[in-house]
Amino acid sequence: MTAVATKRVYLFHEGNAKMRDLLGGKGANLAEMTNIGLPVPPGFTITTEVCNEYYANGQKLPAGLMDDVRAAMKFVEEKMGRTFGGSYRPLLVSVRSGAKFSMPGMMDTILNLGLNETTARALIEETNNPRFVYDAYRRFIMMFSDVVLGLSKHDFDNKILQAYKEQKGYKSDLEMSAEDWKLISEKFLEYVREKTGRDFPTDPYEQLELAIEAVFKSWNNERAIVYRRTEKIPDNLGTAVNVQAMVFGNAGDDSGTGVAFTRDPSTGEKVMFGEYLMNAQGEDVVAGVRTPVPISELQSQNPELYRQFVEICNILERHYRDMQDLEFTIEHGRLFMLQCRSGKRTGPAAVKIAVDMVHEGLITKEEAVTRVTGSHLDQLLHPRIDPKALEGKKPLITGIPASPGAAVGKVVFDADTAAKLGVHGGAGEKVILVRDETNPDDVHGMLASQGVLTARGGKTSHAAVVARGFGIPCVVGAEGLKIDEEAKTFTVNGTTVHEGDVITLDGSSGAVYLGALPLIAPEVSGAFAELMSWADSIRKLRVRTNADNPRDARQAVELGAEGIGLCRTEHMFFEQDRLPIVQEMILAQDEAVRQNALDRLLPIQQKDFEEIFEVMAGKPVTIRLIDPPLHEFLPSHDELLAQVVELRVRGDNPQELAEKEKLLRAVEGMREANPMMGLRGCRLSIVFPGIVEMQTRAILQAAVAVKKRGIDVYPEIMIPLVGHVNELKTVRANLERVAKKVIEETGVAIDYKFGTMIEIPRAALVADQLADPQNGNAEFFSFGTNDLTQMTFGFSRDDAGKFLVPYLEQKILPTDPFETIDQEGVGKLMRMATESAKRVRPDIKLGICGEHGGDPDSVKFCHRIGLDYVSCSPFRVPIARLAAAQAAIENAAEGDK
Ligand code: PEP
Ligand code: MG
Repeated sequence: MTAVATKRVYLFHEGNAKMRDLLGGKGANLAEMTNIGLPVPPGFTITTEVCNEYYANGQKLPAGLMDDVRAAMKFVEEKMGRTFGGSYRPLLVSVRSGAKFSMPGMMDTILNLGLNETTARALIEETNNPRFVYDAYRRFIMMFSDVVLGLSKHDFDNKILQAYKEQKGYKSDLEMSAEDWKLISEKFLEYVREKTGRDFPTDPYEQLELAIEAVFKSWNNERAIVYRRTEKIPDNLGTAVNVQAMVFGNAGDDSGTGVAFTRDPSTGEKVMFGEYLMNAQGEDVVAGVRTPVPISELQSQNPELYRQFVEICNILERHYRDMQDLEFTIEHGRLFMLQCRSGKRTGPAAVKIAVDMVHEGLITKEEAVTRVTGSHLDQLLHPRIDPKALEGKKPLITGIPASPGAAVGKVVFDADTAAKLGVHGGAGEKVILVRDETNPDDVHGMLASQGVLTARGGKTSHAAVVARGFGIPCVVGAEGLKIDEEAKTFTVNGTTVHEGDVITLDGSSGAVYLGALPLIAPEVSGAFAELMSWADSIRKLRVRTNADNPRDARQAVELGAEGIGLCRTEHMFFEQDRLPIVQEMILAQDEAVRQNALDRLLPIQQKDFEEIFEVMAGKPVTIRLIDPPLHEFLPSHDELLAQVVELRVRGDNPQELAEKEKLLRAVEGMREANPMMGLRGCRLSIVFPGIVEMQTRAILQAAVAVKKRGIDVYPEIMIPLVGHVNELKTVRANLERVAKKVIEETGVAIDYKFGTMIEIPRAALVADQLADPQNGNAEFFSFGTNDLTQMTFGFSRDDAGKFLVPYLEQKILPTDPFETIDQEGVGKLMRMATESAKRVRPDIKLGICGEHGGDPDSVKFCHRIGLDYVSCSPFRVPIARLAAAQAAIENAAEGDK
């Protein structure tokens, strides 16, 4: 029995655009363009499977491949009326890589392959243009030697060609004559002989075989591997090889070559955008040796050709129904298409193009919604660095991008200075707070800053979470940043930056630059609003926001939030006018003092809630009761100790010493070895019930007050960090009593709910007990996936940055689990909890409020497991709305299958 041989080589007309896996993006599109009748020079594609075969074979081309290649070359020869290696009308080809996903400049290309003494002579006879032929020849020798023989291209350029030009006194290549190029070709060949100990291969098929192999090899060159890692392209896809008849943009003044986009890729405007060069070959346009001219000039230079080009662009846009990025060549006045693919675009352009194409009848609203990504919207919603200013600019350091947007400001090293100099109550200057890491004491300084930069921490570190919450650009984990707080400087790789020096940081990329770079303001244009309205009509998931203050709540509502999914009440305690009262409450030795402090906090909390309820005007508001360990509200132990020691040594202020010693003892008493797993969450509510009783009273009184003003209020009181149903039962019973009492006292009915967070693995395991109306009676769950991830993996949220980087590099984990839900593990817990809770309480409301609530892949997961809503920081609300719509579209498509 003979096995059916796999087809390894596809002529262009045998493929199509759907065959990207097998033919690579470039090959598939060359096939498609050929089949719709566009002028594409003939050629063929060797499949990506052959690349994988090549590696599986111990880096050997499969037997019989070159026979298939020869058969395909016959076809190309016939189409062109030329012969590969022939002494009359010789055929030259290009050999190019092309993977499924575009990897620009990462792999190799060889042009003019098939040249040798014989074919060069034949081509001279045919064209009567020896200068062109020898120019092509020297380019080929150089490219082939670089790619196949491992000699550096620069040696040819810089050593041989440069020396020759200097000797001749030439300033530019244009002064080189045919004879000069011929001499250079000979010198190049000699150099190859000298360096490799063998002659440059002259047999065209040997050249072709070596070139094909070199392209396969280039799949695993260093830069391609690094590129794949950053772009998350799998290593096992392999590259295809495209062999195509050469057409020459450098054949004379009636020839040329260029690149174009069918719309402007930075604004999205429907205007042709591109550049070309007459009498040039492809690499001249990219290399920047000569300055290309805008494509619009072709209109005056050659109106007929321009008309033809515009027509082809229109055909391609209508055919692919997307903006295209094109490469073309003009040979003696004839236009040829060499490549087309969907063009890369900025966020604003992506939105405008998608919306325009719906109006043009090219795509549906659903398609428009799937064409825009979360990072496109991110770019749109935040100021960004003007891309022009970034050309050739190297960052001072690159950390982890933690909160998007760009910021420019003067460096300050402590929160008090930031608050004094900065905005929101400070002197109004633009400052950037630079710290090793931030903690709750720094919040006032962060708020006053344009941006925050930390040397340590990951995406869910304090700095990252708080900055995202406030919409402040933030870069964290910039390891290598050495901060000297005393000297008020930081140093990176020998560069020292002083307090007051200006830096620019990009919270979307993690890059930090020295000096002030120009920023572009966000444009929330009409197209944006229109696209979002389509997303809203498609999505099933609701989108709420994490907001702790009216300012953020208002911002989020403007961005489309439908409620608050997490109000972290402790953030209110950190504000400077409250912290002393909170500390008094925590340190109180007797109940009366504690109650007094709580009584003073009550009206403050109530006012906070009233403002938030007013802003949310009838939308549900989930308020979480106090969560972090109490010591976070107290002065730092180490600082206190230092102060006490100093006071003791000085001995001049016994009263202050006594106070500080008392405080130190209290702080010591509250110290925990592992506070993240210590006295926090609902455990606090059981040990110190007074705090949450006060909070519940404040929530209900605020609700009553606002309702009396004619505004609907739907408070949802959330009990954090529950692991055992008895914790929930105990806290709930106590707080239900308080709530009922307020309603009784005021005579105003409030539609409130009690629920819990699922952020401890045990809670997910006993979700049915928690939700059961006869047991824990939680009316809603909110998945706290920050803690749930921390505790499921056993990775500390604050320290994971250190090992997650090597974990991701070595592919031990596919993605950062604090950013995208780990569906197999954490996600499994979520799915289980969702299913078991719905069994006992079908109408339970389910949401997520961890950082994952604004991550598109995680939002899609939440849709699939049937949550009701996601909640995320205000600036991520549009991203979540879009991802929720995309999830609904994807699910509908899967349902159709
Ligand atoms: C969580 O754990 O996911 C959560 C939202 O709570 P926090 O980040 O405040 O611990
Ligand atoms: Mg939590």
